[in-house]
Amino acid sequence: MSSAALLQLPLFADPDVAGQWRVRRSARARRLAVRVFRDGGVEIVAPLRVAPPQIGDFIARHRPWIERQLKRTVPVDLSFPPASLALRATAEIWPCDPTVSRVQLVARLKVRAQELFEPQLQQLAQLMGVDFRSLQIRLQRSRWGSCSTRGTISLNCCLLFQRPEVVRYLLVHELTHLRHMNHGARFWAQVERFEPQWRVLDRELSRGWSQVPGWLTARSAP
Ligand SMILES: [Zn+2]
Repeated sequence: MSSAALLQLPLFADPDVAGQWRVRRSARARRLAVRVFRDGGVEIVAPLRVAPPQIGDFIARHRPWIERQLKRTVPVDLSFPPASLALRATAEIWPCDPTVSRVQLVARLKVRAQELFEPQLQQLAQLMGVDFRSLQIRLQRSRWGSCSTRGTISLNCCLLFQRPEVVRYLLVHELTHLRHMNHGARFWAQVERFEPQWRVLDRELSRGWSQVPGWLTARSAP
């Protein structure tokens, strides 16, 4: 039994909440964080050293915010397979075979994302005068991209469902992390040099999950 399961009893005495809210212990997390998923799930990420009472306090403090987010989550359409997939990034429509599996479709999306984003990233890196080491494509439910200190950029294949302008903004954002590993003033000034519309595009991207098919990002999906 994981520590996450053990923690559920004292923290989530409310039976409605027990199944949907969970605590995940993380060796990598530096501070407590909470995520609200589109299917109504809530995940509290806790560093290993944080004691359960502190986690309880954190949840109590953030409960109003969590509940506001939950009210905003729209019921997700989980039906699978879809008749077709519309990729806004490429203006492609992919008709879906009724026998296609999730695994197959995810694999195809990852291949398409790699062949589309890699040259774009290379071009932008050149323009911005930075070098990245490699590109990884992943399927993630809570982040669009990341940049490691070693220069590896990860991009979410769900970006294929965003507009090309939004994708470009995220690439600029991640490439800027090669110079500034934070979201400080100098970071944003650098982003602005290459994407003056970053504020609007960043907001669009944070709402961008609504463009992603539910079956792709639901927690219950493989
Ligand atoms: Zn960032």
